[in-house]
Amino acid sequence: MADVLRLSGIRKSYGDLHALDVIDLTIPDNAYVSLLGPSGSGKTTLLRVIAGFEDPDQGSVALGGRPIDNVQAHRRGIGFVFQNFALFPHLSVARNIAYGLENREVGALTDRAAIRRRVGEMIELVGLAGLEDRGVAQISGGQRQRVALARTLVTEPRLVLLDEPLGALDANLRARMRAELRSIRERLGVTFLHVTGSESEALAMGDIVLVLDRGRIAQSADADTIYNRPAAPSVARFLNCYNLFEGTLSGADFVGPAGRFPTAGSPRLTGGKTAYAVRYDRIQVRPISSALATDEVGVEGAFIASEYSGAAVNSFFALDSGQVVEVETHLSHRPPAAYAPQERYGLVWKRDLALLFA
Ligand code: ADP
Ligand code: MG
Repeated sequence: MADVLRLSGIRKSYGDLHALDVIDLTIPDNAYVSLLGPSGSGKTTLLRVIAGFEDPDQGSVALGGRPIDNVQAHRRGIGFVFQNFALFPHLSVARNIAYGLENREVGALTDRAAIRRRVGEMIELVGLAGLEDRGVAQISGGQRQRVALARTLVTEPRLVLLDEPLGALDANLRARMRAELRSIRERLGVTFLHVTGSESEALAMGDIVLVLDRGRIAQSADADTIYNRPAAPSVARFLNCYNLFEGTLSGADFVGPAGRFPTAGSPRLTGGKTAYAVRYDRIQVRPISSALATDEVGVEGAFIASEYSGAAVNSFFALDSGQVVEVETHLSHRPPAAYAPQERYGLVWKRDLALLFA
């Protein structure tokens, strides 16, 4: 697969704040790429540098193998979909979409019939047929999102940047738009770079997931790798499905406020500071008296509360160190257990299912 975008040594600071702290990155052609990071990690700044709305302090951006550092934003052939949609409120759906075509710097269309045909194709593609003449104030949030997408896609960009495009939609619509965005991209064969603060969105949508941590790429991999082998404790934290323990290595044991965990058999990862991680769904809850097998590790915790969410129940236990451990049980595996408040339980996992960062 050829690369559509290459960033080399990109830095961007605002005063003392390093918003982008050396980004080296390549993004393949014809792929769905998600960019996951917490608020303030530099996601929007990165998109703005790629689009040309912002000049980096250092480094270079190349599109299709050519440096575009001196190319103005509207001449880059890169589309941008903003979180707030940024539509013209007084124009109809069709006029909003046509605007991009009529006003593009390179190859602007003036032939009315050609414009109508291209706009019609886009309206079909994003599922807005029948709403062409509606004002954009008279359509729903999800429909406005589609107009914003169509207005960008109609100019045939090679790369489309989407800044938290589903953030303004309610949960039902968000789930449906995930599938639609993927299928629209597939039909066009271009690359989408989709910024999100939601780990589930990033993992569900990206052929490749990039994780941004304080202006640096902490990991770039397929969703499965990110989920099962996060490259650093920071990545595990953003995924919202790992219990992370702080501590140090003492011989073959990991030792911290939560206790002493033998690490023989635990996959060892080399990124970041020393930490120990166990996924929420890898922990079993047992009576406190039950013995550990030789390949198991356990801690004791007092039950706090459970939370039901569709197919799973998440239970929270307080360790003596004060740390709260989360346990996720999929209801298809087991009926929900009723734990007694304040009661102590054994929280047990297999060593080879824990990750050691060292
Ligand atoms: P994200 O999109 O991941 O939430 P941003 O890229 O918007 O993060 O911001 C990264 C950091 O840069 C934040 O600390 C933000 O406050 C800062 N920042 C962004 N734009 C500016 C600006 N124009 N002036 C000063 N600081 C900025
Ligand atoms: Mg942002």
